[in-house]
Amino acid sequence: MLEINEIFGPTIQGEGKLVGTPSVFIRFGKCNFSCEGFGVEYETPSGIKKCACDTYYAVDTEYKDTWTKYKTYEEVVAKVDELISIYPYNYKIDIVITGGEPLLYWNKQEFQKLLEHYISAGHKVTIETNASLNLNFEHDYQKELLFSMSVKLSNSLEPLKKRVNINTLTSVLTNTKESYLKFVIGKDFLNDAKKEINQIISSIPKCDVYLMPLGDTADQINKNCEDVINMAIENGFKYCDRLHIRVWDNKRGV
Ligand code: SF4
Repeated sequence: MLEINEIFGPTIQGEGKLVGTPSVFIRFGKCNFSCEGFGVEYETPSGIKKCACDTYYAVDTEYKDTWTKYKTYEEVVAKVDELISIYPYNYKIDIVITGGEPLLYWNKQEFQKLLEHYISAGHKVTIETNASLNLNFEHDYQKELLFSMSVKLSNSLEPLKKRVNINTLTSVLTNTKESYLKFVIGKDFLNDAKKEINQIISSIPKCDVYLMPLGDTADQINKNCEDVINMAIENGFKYCDRLHIRVWDNKRGV
């Protein structure tokens, strides 16, 4: 069973290495973290006030009833096909597997069939993950995946042991070609972020590191971006904007 919060697109990838690329997003429900430190306040369907990340509706199982349960990967492909029917038959749109934490489904057969289907058909497939869960690479198609690994720092308020999995980071970077790390950072967290990021990258194979400004409105992005750009320049990291937020703020499904 694949529990999917939403499938939307075509839109553009708003952040990371493939920013600007036309993509369809498949957002899985559930996460192994809650990242209360990200400070987004919301009220659950049963009326409890909580604080978490901006995709709380794909994380908090109180929203489970709003997720769609797909028994087979073909049902997911059929839904995506409806969305991309505007394209000529040979256009291969990028597929972004996101969440929540999609790697919670890594050991499910239908999840693997979904990945294999899109890789075999010639699509670029990105997995957006917190990279904290253990995973094995057993098939060649898995090595064609692009992992966009948003490793959480101490400002997420998740415990260090849980959020930094050096074995998984090493395994992904060794088995795939262009996978990378990305970190969302605000003005008030620059020094700690610098220390924590350097600690992580000193223990794993070399890869691109993208820094992105914190914020879920264009205004907040503007307030944070210059400091984050300077931090990228000073440390040899890459800066990446968050295009979807600049254009649509935190509106869902675009
Ligand atoms: S890991 Fe990502 S999706 Fe999960 S709670 Fe943290 S920010 Fe949200």
